[in-house]
Amino acid sequence: MKPPTVPRGRFAPSPTGPLHMGSLVAALGSFLNVRQQDGEWLVRIDDIDTPRNVPQMEQAILLTLEQHALQWDGDVYYSSQHLVDYEQVLRALQAAGQVFPCTCSRREISNHPINNQRQTGDTLIYPGTCRAGVTADKPLRSYRLRVPTSAIEFMDLLQGPQADTLAISVGDFVVKDGQGQHHYQLATVVDDQIQQITEVVRGADLLASTARQIHLQNQLGYRQPKYLHLSLVTDALGIKLSKQHGATAVDNTLAGQNLITALTLLQQQPPDELQHVPPAGIIRWAIEHWNREPLKSFPIATLPTTLPD
Ligand code: GLU
Ligand code: ZN
Repeated sequence: MKPPTVPRGRFAPSPTGPLHMGSLVAALGSFLNVRQQDGEWLVRIDDIDTPRNVPQMEQAILLTLEQHALQWDGDVYYSSQHLVDYEQVLRALQAAGQVFPCTCSRREISNHPINNQRQTGDTLIYPGTCRAGVTADKPLRSYRLRVPTSAIEFMDLLQGPQADTLAISVGDFVVKDGQGQHHYQLATVVDDQIQQITEVVRGADLLASTARQIHLQNQLGYRQPKYLHLSLVTDALGIKLSKQHGATAVDNTLAGQNLITALTLLQQQPPDELQHVPPAGIIRWAIEHWNREPLKSFPIATLPTTLPD
């Protein structure tokens, strides 16, 4: 793909369920951010987590984007068509001594004293057991990337300055599992590089992944995109909308209404007149008026909303 001469953003849904209001907000936020700069917006189907993929789901997702007038540039990119690229990168990292094989089971890692203070739901920290090598008598469980003891620092355009010491927060993390499946962090970094993405706008649930991705970019000599993590959309009870919690699919027949809700959640104050305007017109208004400043008053995970059920 040619290097972009304009900002280039992307929306990277996993085909594990239909788009819900939270994913529509992420799609719209990344779309408006680049479209206002006359930039390009690409769609990537993040379909490497094969067991969780739902057949035909990518068609449903693309239809929802179309019906909401979120028109993308170029061809849709499928991560599953880039396994060779991930493997090549993995081998290069391994040859450079950055990636090493690991035989630790999940139980061994969670029973390690380093994880004593861990609460349910916290990320397990890898204690570094296999850093110096493994013995042949245990099965291979994963390949891990070494992490530095110094903090990875970066600026998030919405959440402000960030610092994450990966050695403390996660330890050497998995880039490929024992079944041969490459993991999200590696795949996303390679995909963002292949697609030459310059601006990553996505939900704040992925803020915690960003330092891992920047560390990978640094190891690979990739250019770092700008990052903006949007506040998460919660339901009226304060629970993050997610596929796991069965958030309802957006109804394509209510596209205009959905866009107005999404714009309201993005603090864009769409005027009442837009209620009767078709999706393409709402999108035109939104591109023209996009302003991320008001979002700064709404920190992570506090976008309460009462969505129609
Ligand atoms: N596929 C990921 C998700 O749906 C998003 C990946 C990304 O934006 O980096 O949560
Ligand atoms: Zn290990």
